[in-house]
Amino acid sequence: MSCGDFVTSRNATEFRRPYHTAPQEAGRPPKEKWAPILPACENSRVDPFLISVPAACLVTGGVVAYGAAFPRAQLFGPTIFRTNSPRKLAITFDDGPNPAITPKLLDLLDRYQAKATFFLIGRFVRECPDLAKETVARGHAVGNHTESHRNLFKLGPAQVTVELRLCHNAIANTLGAPAKWFRPPYGFRNPWVIPTAQALGCKTVMWTLIPGDWLERPAEWLIRRMRPIAERAERKATGGQKAGTRGTGDVLCLHDGWHRELNADRTRTLAALEHWLPRWRDLGLQFVTMDEAVSASAA
Ligand SMILES: [Zn+2]
Repeated sequence: MSCGDFVTSRNATEFRRPYHTAPQEAGRPPKEKWAPILPACENSRVDPFLISVPAACLVTGGVVAYGAAFPRAQLFGPTIFRTNSPRKLAITFDDGPNPAITPKLLDLLDRYQAKATFFLIGRFVRECPDLAKETVARGHAVGNHTESHRNLFKLGPAQVTVELRLCHNAIANTLGAPAKWFRPPYGFRNPWVIPTAQALGCKTVMWTLIPGDWLERPAEWLIRRMRPIAERAERKATGGQKAGTRGTGDVLCLHDGWHRELNADRTRTLAALEHWLPRWRDLGLQFVTMDEAVSASAA
């Protein structure tokens, strides 16, 4: 039974009672009209369940939604969503490898000596093993982004294990070593997702900024959406950062692929990085893999 069912069944017993009695005519009983009860503040007959149960459902639903989707939530297990130094910027890419974009992206990152982390889809790793190998050979880290990019929030523990295990095997068999990092598709988690990743030796990575580079918007729009990275770097350089973010840096979530098919167009992502990489470098940011993002070495 859902919360909605429960409320409806209790309402059904209360639906009708007389709300108006017509003036009594001499010698005749009073006429009654019948209508639904409308709740009134002072009405002592309003059952507290009618308020408390839906309120509890709303609160519970809100907490679950927060834990399942909010990047910084730790409700369903520990996640890493920022680096350990304001000078470290961890750029991450999801949904590849993608033959149409990833090679160009690797060249662009090389130009700025930038290292990044690529969260790979297992079935694309099988289709493009050489590109996955090339990514690692260029000094980048890779992570598990599941076999087929399903919404894990909707899956039970067995299905979650299959999604993570197949990608884990694809990466290990192709690259000779398993991934140490994991990012859930859409960022959605449930109580089984992070423990399953941990059982495979992976830490779960979220982000501080996800600018929406999959949307059909001009590159200028995406460039504006990525401006907070530079603004934070400037604030931290002047000691004006917000409380709670001192000593930490950003994890940026971009996409070099599309989970539905290979060869998706991500040229806007490339254009935005061509704009920002030199500017971020001039602000003193260092572009690190997730391994470096949490390592003890100071940037
Ligand atoms: Zn994804």
